Amino acid sequence: MTQQVLTILGSTGSIGESTLDVVSRHPEKFRVFALAGHRQVDKLAAQCKQFRPEYAVVGDAGHAAELEKKLKQEGIDTQVLYGSQALIDVASADEVSGVMCAIVGAAGLPSAVAAAQKGKTIYLANKETLVVSGALFMETACQNGATVLPIDSEHNAIFQVLPRDYTGRLNEHGINSIILTASGGPFLNTDLSTFDSITPEQAVKHPNWSMGRKISVDSASMMNKGLELIEAHWLFNCPPEKLEVVIHPQSVIHSMVRYRDGSVLAQLGNPDMRTPIAYCLGLPERIDSGVGELDFGALSALTFQKPDFDRFPCLKLAYQAMNAGGAAPCVLNAANEVAVAAFLDKRIKFTDIAKVVAHCLAQDFSDGRHDIEGLLAQDAQTRRQAEAFIGKQ
Ligand code: NAD
Ligand code: MG
Repeated sequence: MTQQVLTILGSTGSIGESTLDVVSRHPEKFRVFALAGHRQVDKLAAQCKQFRPEYAVVGDAGHAAELEKKLKQEGIDTQVLYGSQALIDVASADEVSGVMCAIVGAAGLPSAVAAAQKGKTIYLANKETLVVSGALFMETACQNGATVLPIDSEHNAIFQVLPRDYTGRLNEHGINSIILTASGGPFLNTDLSTFDSITPEQAVKHPNWSMGRKISVDSASMMNKGLELIEAHWLFNCPPEKLEVVIHPQSVIHSMVRYRDGSVLAQLGNPDMRTPIAYCLGLPERIDSGVGELDFGALSALTFQKPDFDRFPCLKLAYQAMNAGGAAPCVLNAANEVAVAAFLDKRIKFTDIAKVVAHCLAQDFSDGRHDIEGLLAQDAQTRRQAEAFIGKQ
């Protein structure tokens, strides 16, 4: 196996750190070309010390100067770059074979599209890319020979249980539907009358997964599952009516595929993102991820229930946006990003997140430009609208 040369975007985040953990277990297989970490200079400096990449990217000149100083003190000759063009440059550099897209939010879109344009192997954790620009991104990847490998645990599970030669047409493979499992998050059984007083600290405490703050809030509101429906729609070319969501609080089954003959195939494992990361990085081999074996004796039960739209209105809004199509998912995502940030800043209540999203979605977005500039303009406009609505709360 030739050594893979990797750019890891969002290396200081939860997925980024899990990726580097897997990479560190296989130095013969992977070389790190670039790391991108936005603002966490200390963590990025430590990663540069361990992995010695050619480039490290941060958000602005101030953080770049700080990182340069730290690297110089340590005698590390990694070159420091900053800004969004630098993310694009390290994602599309000729030497790079694979790009881990693990920036959070729509900020991860331009670099993921750049990697697709250059025909890279894309390890896609950033689901917002597919939500905002699914059609464009998949088309760009296809036209340029890029391979898109899903890191998100549900999509990775589905990818593992789909036929190897899956063509993107469910019917041809005897597939009836794709089933996304959802933990239901920390508020699955919380009294609905207390939802108004949910704090950010409570919302980011996921029962099974350790993740970044934004996706943790999305899991608590089940917007995460909504974003994942749209992600699955584009990744697997699956029509909305063939996508199911089932709540499975133990997060042992990571998702399933229902076949015509009555078979349901599932992928199981401990809830640890190093499994899907290792699966994608290792393909076609199975490589060690550092994740412990699933202990069936320690499992009390695997349970399932239907999602409740009154408890989780964000999930309903996501279905609405997916069915509307056009720029509606882009609007859903931008409004949600603004609302989640406002909730984490304690400017709005947990229950206001769905209100902000519903307000921004209450127009017809099926028309409009769907090239990258058009989508980014829509994203910016929705962010302004959401902020204005929050200001009036
Ligand atoms: P995180 O908040 O832990 O990390 C985010 C990373 O993005 C950090 O490295 C940060 O420096 C960088 N970043 C933030 N804003 C940026 C900006 N404007 N420009 C450039 N870089 C920026 O998030 P995470 O939990 O690692 O999630 C990353 C992505 O992966 C998200 O899209 C999330 O939905 C997806 N994902 C995460 C998990 C998980 O278990 N954590 C699972 C599935 C999918
Ligand atoms: Mg997921």
